[in-house]
Amino acid sequence: MDENSTIETANRVLANTYKRFPIVFESGHGAVLTDAAGREYVDFVAGIAVCNLGHANEKVAAALAAQAQKLFHVSNLFYTTPQVELASWLVDHSFADRVFFCNSGAEANEAAIKLARKNFFDKGNFDRWRIVAMEQSFHGRTYATLSATGQKKVREGFEPILEGFDFVPFNDIDALRARVSEKTCAVLLELVQGEGGVLCATREYIEAARRLCDETGTILIFDEIQTGIGRTGKLFCYEHYGVTPDIMTLAKALGNGLPIGAMLANEEKCLAFTPGSHASTFGGTPVITAAALEVLRQMERDHILEKSCKTGEYFKTRLTWLKDRHDIIEDVRGIGLMLGMRLKIPGTPIVEKCMEKGYLINCTQENILRFIPPLVITRDQVDGLIDCLDDIFAEQNK
Ligand SMILES: *Cc1c(COP(=O)(O)O)cnc(C)c1O
Repeated sequence: MDENSTIETANRVLANTYKRFPIVFESGHGAVLTDAAGREYVDFVAGIAVCNLGHANEKVAAALAAQAQKLFHVSNLFYTTPQVELASWLVDHSFADRVFFCNSGAEANEAAIKLARKNFFDKGNFDRWRIVAMEQSFHGRTYATLSATGQKKVREGFEPILEGFDFVPFNDIDALRARVSEKTCAVLLELVQGEGGVLCATREYIEAARRLCDETGTILIFDEIQTGIGRTGKLFCYEHYGVTPDIMTLAKALGNGLPIGAMLANEEKCLAFTPGSHASTFGGTPVITAAALEVLRQMERDHILEKSCKTGEYFKTRLTWLKDRHDIIEDVRGIGLMLGMRLKIPGTPIVEKCMEKGYLINCTQENILRFIPPLVITRDQVDGLIDCLDDIFAEQNK
């Protein structure tokens, strides 16, 4: 199938749920992707903050292949070693004591929401099932998670949604204090709102949220699906804040492109999950967990966090340099390699112009350019994008 017929057929046979750019990708290596016509692109999207170790990572592919030759799947009626090793790694490197595996971010958040509610049910506290979430948040597309998402466009057309979610403006301590009541079982938030426009929570806000949850016995849930696994320069973004949640969700980069999600919790909160209370057929299968374990080990072995911190700081400096040169840039925000640039003009034409010049970037919330490259991106590749953007912005000013 050539490129054009792939696109034509796709438009006929696939559910029309995505607005796609007319490129068919065939292969990748590091931060570079190659399309069916042999054209190369430097990738600052990483499959939406997923391929942190770069495309077609050889050692992850080898771990996947080796396990695939031994055993694909037996179900969670039995034990398998890779699942247990991956859970142990996560427990050893985080606040958490226990892990539940699933297949996506939305499913990880579903597990978190169910676990939070079940905690109070088990205590006989049957009225305590509401969850306070943030405006402009994004938690997924299943019914519970779109109900938890503070963006009207995600929910529109699908009502009635799941009951019990109350929204507050992000980073507003007073609003949070006012909203958490004796009916609230959990507070759910992203430390950096990704889809919401790369908005960082303030330290004061997260400290206040933790304090409030402690005072009221409310469960604090961090959705680290996008911020986790090194995206912000630490393994988990909560480490920047010195505040630990009771429950954390992971997905995106955990499998470097393979479908896996995880819900992590401390011992006390996880007690509410007992045999039969929650499950996933494919959750934590040997093949995927063996690959994810190699993702995490490789990050440690190759000092990916340390390197990506430096690249992130450099990248932010360069974006700020651009801001000083071009009036149409409103601000530069973000942390690690999760960076954003708010424009005074729509972002999509800029994304398209970058693509023509061989750079893939993303736009969210109409006018916020989002840069979430593989963590292995190099300074030279960053400089290439900066030059490309500098040219594009200069043309805009004419
Ligand atoms: C992507 C994302 C999700 C949803 O993950 P899926 O794997 O698409 O279900 C949830 N929360 C955050 C913060 C995300 O970035």
